Amino acid sequence: MAISPLAAESQAIAAEFDFGTEGVRKAVKHFVRQFDDGLTKDGDTMIPSYVTALPDGSEKGICLAVDIGGTNLRVCSVELYGDRTFTIKQNKTTIPHNIRVGSTAQDLFGFIAEQVEIFLRDNYGSSVQRAQTLSKSDHLPLGFTFSFTFHQTAINRGTLIRWDKGFDVPDVVGKDVIVLLQDEINRRKLPVRVTALANDTVGTLMTRSYTSPGGHECILGAVFGTGTNGAYVEKSSNFERLGCKKSPSGKMMVNTEWCSIDDELVVLSKNSYDDEIDKTSTNPGFTMFEKQVSGYYLGELFRLALLDLLDRTNLQGSLAALRPDSVLLRSSGIETATLSAIEGDLDPSLGATRQCLHKQLGVLHATTELAEAVKIIVHAIGLRAARLSGVAIAAVVLKSKCLAQADSHFDIGLEGSLVEYYPGFEHHIRGVLREIPEIGLQGEERIHMGLAKDGSGVGAALIAMVADKEKGETSKCERMPALLEL
Ligand code: ADP
Ligand code: MG
Repeated sequence: MAISPLAAESQAIAAEFDFGTEGVRKAVKHFVRQFDDGLTKDGDTMIPSYVTALPDGSEKGICLAVDIGGTNLRVCSVELYGDRTFTIKQNKTTIPHNIRVGSTAQDLFGFIAEQVEIFLRDNYGSSVQRAQTLSKSDHLPLGFTFSFTFHQTAINRGTLIRWDKGFDVPDVVGKDVIVLLQDEINRRKLPVRVTALANDTVGTLMTRSYTSPGGHECILGAVFGTGTNGAYVEKSSNFERLGCKKSPSGKMMVNTEWCSIDDELVVLSKNSYDDEIDKTSTNPGFTMFEKQVSGYYLGELFRLALLDLLDRTNLQGSLAALRPDSVLLRSSGIETATLSAIEGDLDPSLGATRQCLHKQLGVLHATTELAEAVKIIVHAIGLRAARLSGVAIAAVVLKSKCLAQADSHFDIGLEGSLVEYYPGFEHHIRGVLREIPEIGLQGEERIHMGLAKDGSGVGAALIAMVADKEKGETSKCERMPALLEL
C-alpha cells in the first residue's frame, strides 16, 4: 500500500535520528576511551570533585543548599535524619533571561544571594536577624551546586571555564564562583558561609548513596534535565598528578562532563537540525552530546524538524500551515515538556496531540494524519536522546568494572525532568545496556536505577557533611538548629 507524503516525510525525518545497535556499541567503546584519556589530561572533562567519600545513610544534620545549573534556581535547607530519610524545604525561582544572558557577575550572584535572603526570611525569620551578630565561624554552612564547567581546586574553590545551556555572563569566566557568591552574601549581611562547591551530578550520586533502598553500592549519579552530565567513583590515585592528596577512602568522585565527551563528533553524527541548533547556540562546537540529549535542546530540535515537515508537505510551505503567532515561528518556542505530552498520548485518535498542535503550537489543520506524523518525529527525537543517555551510562558501568564482582548488585541515581517525566526514558536506557555485549541481560539486571529526587539540594548538604566527616571534624551542619533557635 502506498503511504501518504506526510507519513513518508515524517519517516524520512525520523530516520535522521536513528541510532542503532552498531552505533551504540561503537559509541560506548569511544566513551570509555575518552574517559580513560581524560583521566590522564588536564582537560575540561573528568574533573575531580574533591569529594572523597560516599554517604552510607547514617549522616545527620541540617545544611543550606543553592542549586543553579539550568532553568531554575533552588534554595533549600535539608535535614538528614541518619536513617536514609530527609526533609527538605525549598524555594524555586526561574532565572530571568536578562540575568542569564548579558548581565554581570554582580547581577547574577546578587540575584542568587537575594534568593537566599528571601528563603531565610520566609523560613527562619527573626532568628536569622539575631544570627547576623554571631561570629563568622557560627554562620550557616551552605553547599553550592553549580552545574557548569568549572575548574575545581578544593572542595570550596572553583573557577568557571565556560558557560553553556543558554547562560552567558562574560565577566564570571575565569573567576572563583564561591568568592563571587560569598561577596554578595556578605554585602547583604547574611549569616551564611559557602563551604562546598559541587556539581549536580556529584550531588545526585551522594543523594542516591544516602537514600539507596537496597543499600547497594552507588556507582553513578546522572542528570538529564536542562543539560546532561554524570559523576562516578574513581580511584583518588588517578588525581595525584593534580596535587590531590590520597584520600583516606582511596576514592574520588569524578565529574565526567560527558556533555562534551565527543565534541569532535567521532561517534556522534549531526543531522541538519543538530547543525542548526549548534550554529545558533551560545557555544558552537561544544557540548555536542548534550545538544542531542538534554531538555534545553529537544524542544528546539522538534520545532526545526516539524517546520521542515510542514515545508516538505505543504505546497505553500510551513507559513501557510501556521497561525501568524505560532510558537513554531519563534526560536526556542517549544518546551521539551510538549514532547513528553505527545509521546505520552496513547489514544488511537491522538486527541491530545491534535489539541497540542492546534492550541499550543498554532498549527491550523491539526488532522489525525498530521498528529501521527508528528508523533513519529517526537518519538525519534526522544528515543535518540534516551539511547545516547544509555551510551553514557553503559560507558560508566564498563569503566567502573563493577560487574566483575560476581553476583553483586549496583545502584545508579538519576535526576532531572527528562528522566522523571519523559515516557519510557529509563526503559530505553535499559535497552541500550542490554545491547552492550559486556553487560547483556544478566548485567543489566544487576544494575538498579532510581530517581534521586532533590538530588542537587540534598547532595550539596551531604557533600558539606561528608567533607567535614573525612576531615575528622564534627559536622558544622549540626550546629544550625541550635543557631536558628537563638
Ligand atoms: P534544571 O536543569 O534546572 O535542574 P530540570 O531537571 O527540571 O531543571 O530540567 C529542566 C529541563 O527539563 C528544561 O529544559 C525543560 O524544558 C525540561 N522539562 C520540563 N518539564 C519536562 C517534561 N515534563 N518532560 C520533559 N522535559 C521537561
Ligand atoms: Mg537540576
